Amino acid sequence: MQSFIVMQGQTYQEEKELGMIWSREQDSGGSLPHSWLRVMEVNEGDRIFHYVKGDIVAISVATSDCQAARRPSSKPHDAEWEGNGYLVELDYHELEVPVNVRSKFDVILPLLPIKYSPFQADANGNQGYLYPCNEELSIKLLELISDSNIYQVDEEQLELAIGTVRQTERNTFIPMLAETETEVKTKIRLGKQKFRQGLLPLWAQKCALCDIELPELLRASYSKPWKDSTDFERVDPSNGVLLCCNHHALYENGLIAFDGQGRLHISSQIPEEDYEKYGIRPKMKIARNEKNKPFYKWHKRNVFKG
Ligand SMILES: [Zn+2]
Repeated sequence: MQSFIVMQGQTYQEEKELGMIWSREQDSGGSLPHSWLRVMEVNEGDRIFHYVKGDIVAISVATSDCQAARRPSSKPHDAEWEGNGYLVELDYHELEVPVNVRSKFDVILPLLPIKYSPFQADANGNQGYLYPCNEELSIKLLELISDSNIYQVDEEQLELAIGTVRQTERNTFIPMLAETETEVKTKIRLGKQKFRQGLLPLWAQKCALCDIELPELLRASYSKPWKDSTDFERVDPSNGVLLCCNHHALYENGLIAFDGQGRLHISSQIPEEDYEKYGIRPKMKIARNEKNKPFYKWHKRNVFKG
């Protein structure tokens, strides 16, 4: 199962009524924007978060794979929607309480990928249509949705306040949310397990920097983080280094990095007099090969706080 975020604005109401999302095949200049083409990647069972003017307002489940289709429109002569495109049928679940992205942006921002992020650094939504939503961001959005739509709502009050239709919707909404969370967490757990299993033998079951070998203290560190990686890169042992807890935390937070030669670089945020305390020396060298080198370089360019 994959997750996506769709930026709908004015088209939300109509697309919800029609139970679908749709993108044109190409824009008027003949270009193929990535956020339109991405609709082709949606498969039955995938989950989609719906963003409208600052809020996540609904979550849906794809009930079909993507198919080529003209737009089924309640406005058939609307020139803006003429032409061929891609359509996915969806089962929409509208939130009783939308999640405002800006007000939760401090917990959302660290989970945004560098490439193809649905939101800008100032919390505004990007212009495109459909964006990928990595599993860590999905979990966070599901938590935020649960917090405001399940836990804070008093069940008895609800029965009085909302009619039969809403009550029935709620009976399918909560299981759908729980199932989504389980599926996403399972994908993360299995991916990280496989990654660690592949990584351990490559580093002789020891921290690459300090030789600590107690399994409880060893972490499989990603060079290119989960949120930025493809499914293949998430289980590719070349995309990682085996490190002890301390060195893992330094690497994950960009306070150390390795260059294409496998040489250690230390952030200027760490004072030189502390190097010994952290068990690091400039230019310490770890194993590198043609496969893990591009990942070291990606980390140094994008995560390292030089
Ligand atoms: Zn270590």
